Amino acid sequence: MNIPAYVIGGWVRDLLLNRPSKDIDIVAIGSGIDLAQRVAKKLGNKYHVNVYKNFGTAQIVYEDYDIEFVGARKESYRSESRKPIVENGTLEDDQNRRDFTINALAISLSESSYGELLDPFKGIDDMKTGIIRTPLDPDITFSDDPLRMMRAIRFATQLNYTIEPKSLESIAKNKDRIKIISKERITDELNKIILAPVPSIGFKILFDTGLLHHIFPQMVLLYGVDNRNGQSHKDNFYHTLEVLDNICKTTDDLWLRWAAILHDIAKPQTKRFEPGHGWTFHGHEDKGSRMVPIIFAELKLPLNEKMKYVQKLVLLHLRPIVLAKTEVTDSAVRRLLFEAGDDIDDLMKLCEADITSKNAYKVQKYLKNFEVVRHKLKEIEEKDNVRNWQPPVSGEDIMKAFNIRAGREVGIIKNAIREAILDGIIQNNPTEALQFMIQEGEKLGLKSN
Ligand code: ATP
Repeated sequence: MNIPAYVIGGWVRDLLLNRPSKDIDIVAIGSGIDLAQRVAKKLGNKYHVNVYKNFGTAQIVYEDYDIEFVGARKESYRSESRKPIVENGTLEDDQNRRDFTINALAISLSESSYGELLDPFKGIDDMKTGIIRTPLDPDITFSDDPLRMMRAIRFATQLNYTIEPKSLESIAKNKDRIKIISKERITDELNKIILAPVPSIGFKILFDTGLLHHIFPQMVLLYGVDNRNGQSHKDNFYHTLEVLDNICKTTDDLWLRWAAILHDIAKPQTKRFEPGHGWTFHGHEDKGSRMVPIIFAELKLPLNEKMKYVQKLVLLHLRPIVLAKTEVTDSAVRRLLFEAGDDIDDLMKLCEADITSKNAYKVQKYLKNFEVVRHKLKEIEEKDNVRNWQPPVSGEDIMKAFNIRAGREVGIIKNAIREAILDGIIQNNPTEALQFMIQEGEKLGLKSN
């Protein structure tokens, strides 16, 4: 077709970094849509071409590759929007509009220069030294599209690179511009930071540049240490980051990582200085768990069972500590198993990650305690099977037994049975539960059939 074409951007970067990627972007000096259609024809018309006329792009899903075709473009921005005015351009124009030097690399696909690498901004050198740098003046790059500030921090975190000082300064300067970016896009980048091997790298940059204050102010409140009568508490911002990095060694699950971020989120709101006692944060687990839906809504995170899972872990994160004591009863262990259900293992991971003492002896001691708790949990679970437990008497059973309709009494009796089993007053079997049900019903003045 006599159309010069190049594979460009993230795929080239990831090829050179040995990070396998299935997203291929091809830029054509001409019509990307026409090129995509010819490529599809060449592939025997077995693959559908999705054409996005408004964007001038086309996509072919080829096996598990996602191949995007676009004509080279030149972009210019207006201050109130991150959507540029787009016109056709040269390869150079197209590389100029890229966010970072390492994302501006292109490899020629044309026959005459096949495989030639075009690296106008010395992206390869930046890869060697691990630098995130904008190709043009960073003030322009970040002000044009403020999402790039999040992307810079995300790449620095994923690749463990350093943001070049001028670019970093520019992020701090342009931080307020983030307000023109949708919450969804910001959170997308934030989640990528959280899913990186060491997310604290990104959070520290977000904090130091002032971006975190805009996107997640509740977390900023964790920062700082108060001192009274020579007594201070730990800095909960850095503690939280340590817990997050710790948990990343044992899980790739985004939501467990979010639980680590939020486990102490209500400490600033519950902080008190009690003379003779020191700093306390009574009820921070309860208040924190109630803050989770508010934060999830603000960040446009899903308000579904994932949120409930995070809430549950935040609420329960102090409970296993108490179970390490020697005099702990079976019923306390049973209760936690019942409340945590299948999330008990994740809860234990969170508790272990929460140990951030600098004193190696203490760390060992706390870890040993949790080993004891794990042992107790296993023992009780094997014995009583309460982890995914449903009480042996249902609401239906109760209604039938007393010939009553659904209502307050059914709830009272059901609760009483559950509590009696969890407390070990009766055994977890239908015979004892039915007997207990009759007693409880009689207390309410009901007669069984
Ligand atoms: P990942 O695949 O890890 O999400 P990526 O940057 O490689 O990151 P895309 O977001 O698909 O993946 O972007 C592909 C390429 O498009 C980038 O490498 C970059 O060249 C360019 N690009 C993407 N977003 C922007 C942006 N906001 N500003 C400038 N260039 C961008």
